[in-house]
Amino acid sequence: IRKGGRSEMELADIKGLGPKKILLFHKLGIETIEDLITNYPYQYRIWKRSDMKKVKDGDKVIIDGIVENSPTVSVSSNRIKRILFRISTLNNIYQVCVFNQEYLCRQLHTGTKVIVIGKFDLKRNLITAEEVRIGTLPPHTIVEPIYLQTEGLNTKTIFLAIQEGLEQDFFIKDYLPKSIQEKYHFLPKKLAIKEMHQPTSTLNYQKAKQRLKYEEIFFYLLKIQYLKRKREKEERAITRNIPYQKVEEFISTLPFELTKDQLETIKSIWQDLTAAKRMNRFVQGDVGSGKTIVAFIATYMNFLSHYQTALMVPTEILATQHYQNAKQIFQGTKINISLLTSSTSKKEKNQIYQKLESGELDFIIGTQSLIQENLQFSHLGLIIADEQHRFGVKQREQLKNKGITPDVLSMSATPIPRTYALTLYGDMDISSIKTKPKGRKEIITIYRETKQIKD
Ligand code: ADP
Ligand code: MG
Repeated sequence: IRKGGRSEMELADIKGLGPKKILLFHKLGIETIEDLITNYPYQYRIWKRSDMKKVKDGDKVIIDGIVENSPTVSVSSNRIKRILFRISTLNNIYQVCVFNQEYLCRQLHTGTKVIVIGKFDLKRNLITAEEVRIGTLPPHTIVEPIYLQTEGLNTKTIFLAIQEGLEQDFFIKDYLPKSIQEKYHFLPKKLAIKEMHQPTSTLNYQKAKQRLKYEEIFFYLLKIQYLKRKREKEERAITRNIPYQKVEEFISTLPFELTKDQLETIKSIWQDLTAAKRMNRFVQGDVGSGKTIVAFIATYMNFLSHYQTALMVPTEILATQHYQNAKQIFQGTKINISLLTSSTSKKEKNQIYQKLESGELDFIIGTQSLIQENLQFSHLGLIIADEQHRFGVKQREQLKNKGITPDVLSMSATPIPRTYALTLYGDMDISSIKTKPKGRKEIITIYRETKQIKD
């Protein structure tokens, strides 16, 4: 696995880049030459003279011509300055209007050659320009890359620095296996990078993009596979003996009957927890499909094998709800539960910390504050992340490292197509809960504006 993709060369090696400019590049997250040349444009401007005979009302046009009169300025009631002038082309005369670019009055005189880009109003033969540049259009099409800018660093400076960076004859490591490159007839990497900044044709640009995107996804999947294999090889520090009969007994105390998918998911979790490799399971299921109870049963299994469980949720409300819920579900058991959120008092927090460390607490439910603070568990065996898409991988890792590589159960209601889920979560095993609890009303998904939230 490639480490960050850093090149040996630094920005200071680029001609024309002083310390001040380099700092601005850093602001854009560009620190090395490799960062620089792989900083692709987010958009391109195509400089190609519009065929004015074919354009329709409202079309965006690019034309060049000669200024016919000194621009006039008028100020509207809301203080917007409107600059107006005429240009002549080979076949026609157009009105051009620009807003708030007064400096143009100093630059434009009768006879000045200009390029105008803007929206065409057919009836009035008027172009409302977004950009007016001194000069004429070249006979061939020009593609201008537009980069993300920051104050003091415009797209042109960025472009020039990138060109300079591409000139430097340094080695760009091409990690894609030869067999793949040949199979897809990929462009060489360096050429592909050049093509992104200065496309030579639509086809070449598409080929370049395909080549570079392929590499990105290739590495992503490689990492996922790496994580998966690493997990499979890991020595399991936790070994559990959980009689399934005890789990079934507990299930029979629940106030409702579990659905088929819930039961299947629970069975998979049981298999994971008692297996030789660490669990990393992702449970997917619509809102209301009953993921919480599955999480609680996993907690119960973990408890039966004498380990602590941590349940992370993204919001305080959800943490409190889960806590109330858990207290009810676990009424008849010896599971010791606590709630930890940012509104937990300092005194209470200290008690919780102490109990987690001594092993007195079996189940902790909380928000991110769970992770941020320096929690010490006595024997953390299972981490559950509810609404897991709201947690970063880093946050999950952080908690994971607190214990003895505990098992991980992630849950989400965000519907992700299976193939996509396999790609995104390729290092996890996936369970889906599709069957709805009995008597459950149909879930309706509707669109509402923010201002309707109160209703
Ligand atoms: P989600 O999957 O969105 O997290 P919850 O776990 O919050 O859904 O479940 C929603 C509600 O359905 C809860 O009140 C829960 O007690 C209830 N529930 C869960 N499973 C069943 C079931 N098999 N039969 C009836 N009600 C159930
Ligand atoms: Mg839920």
